[in-house]
Amino acid sequence: MAEHESLEFGKADFVLLDNVSLEEFMANLKLRFEKGRIYTYIGEVVVSVNPYRAMNIYGRDTIEQYKGRELYERPPHLFAIADAAYKAMKRRNKDTCIVISGESGAGKTEASKYIMQYIAAITNPSQRAEVERVKNMLLKSNCVLEAFGNAKTNRNDNSSRFGKYMDINFDFKGDPIGGHINNYLLEKSRVIFQQEGERSFHSFYQLVKGAPDAQLRSLHIQRDPTAYTYIKVGGQIKSSINDSADFKAVTDAMKVIGFTTEEIQTVYKILATILHLGNLKFGSDGDVTLIENSKLVSVLGDLLSTKDENVEKALLYRTVATGRDVIDKQHTHQEASYGRDALAKAIYERLFCWIVGRINDIIEVKNYDARVHGKNTVIGVLDIYGFEIFQNNSFEQFCINYCNEKLQQLFIQLVLKQEQEEYEREGIPWKHIDYFNNQIIVDLVEQQHKGIFAVLDEACMNVGKVTDEMFLQALNGKLAKHAHYTSRKVLKITHSEICHVYSVVGFIDKNKDTLFQDFKRLLYNSSNPVLKAMWPEGKLSITEVTKRPLTAATLFKNSMISLVENLARKEPYYVRCIKPNDVKSPLLFEHERCKHQVEYLGLLENVRVRRAGFANRQLYPRFLQRYKMISEFTWPNHDLPSDKEAVKRLLQGCGFEHDVAYGKTKVFIRTPRTIFSLEEQRAEM
Ligand code: ATP
Ligand code: MG
Repeated sequence: MAEHESLEFGKADFVLLDNVSLEEFMANLKLRFEKGRIYTYIGEVVVSVNPYRAMNIYGRDTIEQYKGRELYERPPHLFAIADAAYKAMKRRNKDTCIVISGESGAGKTEASKYIMQYIAAITNPSQRAEVERVKNMLLKSNCVLEAFGNAKTNRNDNSSRFGKYMDINFDFKGDPIGGHINNYLLEKSRVIFQQEGERSFHSFYQLVKGAPDAQLRSLHIQRDPTAYTYIKVGGQIKSSINDSADFKAVTDAMKVIGFTTEEIQTVYKILATILHLGNLKFGSDGDVTLIENSKLVSVLGDLLSTKDENVEKALLYRTVATGRDVIDKQHTHQEASYGRDALAKAIYERLFCWIVGRINDIIEVKNYDARVHGKNTVIGVLDIYGFEIFQNNSFEQFCINYCNEKLQQLFIQLVLKQEQEEYEREGIPWKHIDYFNNQIIVDLVEQQHKGIFAVLDEACMNVGKVTDEMFLQALNGKLAKHAHYTSRKVLKITHSEICHVYSVVGFIDKNKDTLFQDFKRLLYNSSNPVLKAMWPEGKLSITEVTKRPLTAATLFKNSMISLVENLARKEPYYVRCIKPNDVKSPLLFEHERCKHQVEYLGLLENVRVRRAGFANRQLYPRFLQRYKMISEFTWPNHDLPSDKEAVKRLLQGCGFEHDVAYGKTKVFIRTPRTIFSLEEQRAEM
């Protein structure tokens, strides 16, 4: 047994547990955490427990120890999985992906950054300038995305409030030549509201605290975050983060990536616009709604490069088409406030998507000719929000949890189901493993016509006032008999021992996600070309707007379906992150909290399948092609009746008979050690 598997630190792979039970699993996880061994394998899956302290395991020397080595040669580490994904891509020309999951604060984003750092460190040995430039941009893009997409929450001081999938493209030499980022569902409600103890997105505090005086003056912003309603609701202005240093880092990163000065200025103008919008107060004079602090209107006009009266009109009136006439209808006080908040959320979300789009324009692979350079391969890294259950769960949690069900489904399909099916197909004896197939939950949410999203969309299509209660009644009507759906006043989904309860309040509104056309036109008509380009749909006048925009749920569902399809085409590697406690302590392993995560991540089932299973499998001819030189029976050619017989002979000769099974078309090898040994013998030839 290798030194790193010393039992003092527990079992480096859960597959090696004496008994596969939840108790033993938890005991091993705890022991390893306490011994500072935060990574443990389940076969090729890395289970990671957030250490909540700086670990000296990510340096250059560690990178060197993992570079090009096989998974089992070194103690479990993210670097090993990154290396495995990289090797599979390079050696076998396969697209691979690394899926990182876990709940908020479990360490997904940190893991994704270490993985990217590792890949950056082991590539481009010849130091080609162009590749170095691409690597630098890929790394810098994280800093910008975190500024605009992350926030302090009660669970995590740097919580990602969006989902991120990043492809890194490699040339035939295995060096990064570009990338592409997909972002999913930014939690834009945070722009106008935060729970007690939380903050809005980092970007706002960075601007207010870090921008030079002159810049703040030009934005009409005071150096005091508490002066701005939208970003002080949570009452948490301070955080462990150094906002003003980050402002500089983010601005520099934008410059390095290639944002123009005008673009960067517009980004900050938009942030300032949102801060001012939050302070806008509406009042009434009889039937007339008006803006109390009208000075702000001219500030907004200035920041948005448009006439003050246009700003005022868009905030107070809505253009409506009645038959052939077009009239200006005045907002009520309430409508005006609603419109203002919707505008603030929409321009932030649009800004975020625009930033991602600009980064993509710059980092995407250009001038790559596969005929000349060979296949361009990809490693994808997915860092997406984990299951979220709060006291009060709304539309956002519903979407996030649906996303996790989809990813869990993919995991089940790939790791559990495919595995079982393959053994059956190959005629290998197989002990059936029971697991909960959550496809039924996924269907409950996304099925056409009868799923929860479909019922929601239908409710939103109705003209007239549709309330959240009416939506709930429609659900109760359609889904009353569904085994996993219960509802009275709330929407409830149960499976295994997990029960998700959502309040339907706000579902209709968040799904419709209305932004008055007047605002879109206002922004499109700005004389600032960067801003104008962000709002192309503002080009349409009210009479030309005929198509109803897709609902938030449909957009999200479509993006999840395409994400899963994309991942399913790649060879997946998994990192499962666990949060050891709720107080960010490096010492505390809260048993119940961890157990719950182990359960819903399906880790024990994963171990069972893996134990019953085989680490490696190869078609007979392929196996021979690779290893025939190590046996006198097969080198240079065999005279046995079939390749299968030849493989048997070869493995018998090496003494691995006990560790393999012979399927119809493939040989199955139980432990990775056998593969290493074959590889070694091959190398010695
Ligand atoms: P969210 O879903 O909220 O975005 P997350 O899973 O991405 O959460 P991270 O932001 O990666 O969580 O981690 C939360 C915090 O935990 C980090 O800011 C850091 O303090 C600590 N942490 C996570 N991983 C590590 C690690 N490997 N070493 C040291 N500290 C870590
Ligand atoms: Mg994160």
